[in-house]
Amino acid sequence: MNETLLVFLYALGTAIATGLGAIPFMFVRELSERLASYSAAVAGGLMLGASFGLVAEGTLYGRGETLAGALIGVAFILVTQRILGDRDGQDLVFEAASGEGARKMLLIVIVMTVHSFAEGVAVGVSFGGGVTLGAVITVAIAIHNIPEGVAISAVLRPQRVSVLRCAGWSVFSSLPQPIMAVPAFLFVETFRTALPYGLGFAAGAMVFMVLVELLPEAYEHGDRAQVATLTVASAVGMVLFQQWL
Ligand SMILES: [Zn+2]
Repeated sequence: MNETLLVFLYALGTAIATGLGAIPFMFVRELSERLASYSAAVAGGLMLGASFGLVAEGTLYGRGETLAGALIGVAFILVTQRILGDRDGQDLVFEAASGEGARKMLLIVIVMTVHSFAEGVAVGVSFGGGVTLGAVITVAIAIHNIPEGVAISAVLRPQRVSVLRCAGWSVFSSLPQPIMAVPAFLFVETFRTALPYGLGFAAGAMVFMVLVELLPEAYEHGDRAQVATLTVASAVGMVLFQQWL
């Protein structure tokens, strides 16, 4: 098979894997404020864990560049928040929700979609090092995408978005992976230079989003110690999971 097509198909597989993250929510019946709170804690922990991995990988390509990328990621969220309006932006509509609920969902979908660009580049660049390396990295990213689908569904589902649509938005958030993998594979050297910035950006945006959106929300309706414990367990679990891959 044509190598470029192979890279695309592999990266498309990673995107589809993200949809699996909605599955646990098939078994959750009651959509209470407490569920939203503990879901936000799990989403936050998974995103923190994923960010540790991204920073560690970024430093392999350049430390200063990773830090610069992270700060750009923070700036990106600040600008996005400003565009979406503050907490009582009533005119926003997303899925069945408006106002604050819509803003929260849009923000997580945007953050997770943007962070996937860097991972798509990582897939493409890794295929530049040979099909075996590429396949290993692709499987790692595909599996890491599943908890990220959980994170997205954990924010969308309490807003009464159907499980199927949670899966759809999860897959959507990973579409930049097949889109970016192909040019990154074809122009490996160019993209390798940009990679630490991209990985830093993804980590900075996610950590900031966790601190400024997800955890404050989790603490609002959940017990502090329980929220913190869930967050720690999810973050460490995500790191262990990625190392095991
Ligand atoms: Zn990720």
